[in-house]
Amino acid sequence: MPAVVKLNNVVKRFGALEVLKGVSFDIDPGQVVALIGQSGSGKSTALRCINHLETIQAGTIEVCGHRVEDPELDLRALRKDVGMVFQSYNLFPHMNVAENIMLALRRVKKVSRPDAHDIAKKVLAKVGLSEKIEAYPEQLSGGQQQRVAIARSLAMEPKVMLFDEVTSALDPKLTSEVLRVMEDLARGGMTMIIVTHEMGFAKRAANKVIYMHTGKVHEMGGPDILAAPQTAELKEFLSSDL
Ligand code: ADP
Ligand code: MG
Repeated sequence: MPAVVKLNNVVKRFGALEVLKGVSFDIDPGQVVALIGQSGSGKSTALRCINHLETIQAGTIEVCGHRVEDPELDLRALRKDVGMVFQSYNLFPHMNVAENIMLALRRVKKVSRPDAHDIAKKVLAKVGLSEKIEAYPEQLSGGQQQRVAIARSLAMEPKVMLFDEVTSALDPKLTSEVLRVMEDLARGGMTMIIVTHEMGFAKRAANKVIYMHTGKVHEMGGPDILAAPQTAELKEFLSSDL
């Protein structure tokens, strides 16, 4: 089976600052990847390059058959295949949960209103929020809003999902309910790249761990590398983080 995401020697610079210094990794279908590393190591930039929110200076990125660095890239087709959830949930405050979820379905996928509503119900059930379909964002906890944001992304039926520190703004209880949703998705076979500081979650849910350090993949392997890091840098990162 071809890789869902394949980075080959990706270089990304912001002016003179080289942020990704030849990053390579492959993600297979159904793989759940924890992307870890200290602040500033290039994790968010790597995710943003995958979704073409940033352009790269060298190397290649292939996502679900799309050549992301190709000038002829069909950006809409790429964005249909890739779901992304950030730390800030960015729900529209004047729209209720159903409307927030239906928006992109209606506008981008041209799904009819009744069909979009059915899809909204289905994805809300997946994140355990069926009863909140009529609620407005301000009536929800941060964890619930983040679960709606995940549902909104799921509604588009992405082939791969990118999560960038989606629990960083949440307290431990709300964090665990969001992590549970992500673990359910993992068990359901979703291909995911998860930037996280939750090492316990990474150990439980991930079947691949990529440790980034100063713009490079410094160590990569199964979740066992979290228990037995090979490099001094990962060892140090894990001890400072826990
Ligand atoms: P991480 O997500 O691992 O914390 P980032 O990918 O956000 O790291 O950032 C990596 C480096 O790139 C940092 O030094 C950051 O300041 C820099 N950087 C990120 N985005 C930009 C930008 N738009 N312009 C300039 N520098 C940036
Ligand atoms: Mg980041």
